[in-house]
Amino acid sequence: MKIVFLGVGGWISRPKLGFTSIAVLGRYGGLLLDAGEGVYHAMDRCGVDINAIDTVFLSHRHGDHVLGIPTLVQLARYQHRRLRIVGSRDVIESVRALLSAVGVNEYEKHVDFIEVGHGDKISVGGYVLRFAEVRHTVPSLAVRVEYEGRCVVYSSDTTFTEALIPLSYGCDLLIHEVSGYSDDARLYGHSTLYNAVEVAYRARVKRLAIVHFYIDTPPLRVEVLRSLAEEGVELIVPYPCYSIELE
Ligand SMILES: [Zn+2]
Ligand SMILES: [Zn+2]
Repeated sequence: MKIVFLGVGGWISRPKLGFTSIAVLGRYGGLLLDAGEGVYHAMDRCGVDINAIDTVFLSHRHGDHVLGIPTLVQLARYQHRRLRIVGSRDVIESVRALLSAVGVNEYEKHVDFIEVGHGDKISVGGYVLRFAEVRHTVPSLAVRVEYEGRCVVYSSDTTFTEALIPLSYGCDLLIHEVSGYSDDARLYGHSTLYNAVEVAYRARVKRLAIVHFYIDTPPLRVEVLRSLAEEGVELIVPYPCYSIELE
């Protein structure tokens, strides 16, 4: 499966970083992990075919993760196709309110909502998705996506939580937020680079991609890079449209 980083910023970041959204593309269709503002344009810029996306997982209801949804629903209506939206009850209620607020009516004809929670496992379009509740300022779910023997985990917005370790265990790629650049990151429901690295080590993942940058990419200290190399974890600092093939 191919992973395309459509955006890598947080809500407030340099505009060129975009908002954190990740496309997961298999042979016959794809998933979107979060859909921040402008995600449709980001897909176009990154060469991701909108028709390939039939499922969107929304990790939590913050605007930098869901504000692209009305456009995706309008496109589904225009193209006479259906879109699956996967998320917690909190997310689904918020998306319904958002669609109403911006005048997207009769969306039920084009949208299937799939409500999920901690510990759930579902299969969609050849992908197996598992979920774990993480710790943020609103309800937030991390997701593990498995496809043809490969695996990617997306942390959502979260402070450090043990729940990510079993969810990520042995995965080919852990995509973890690092928007907290100071030790008090947890007070704001976010993780530091050290938190992400700890999850990567303990879950024995092969690669760690860091995302959801606050303002700009975080400083990378030499000792962190050295210890990641010693542990055999490849560090990826993606830019918008960066892609990686897991095979
Ligand atoms: Zn966010
Ligand atoms: Zn958030």
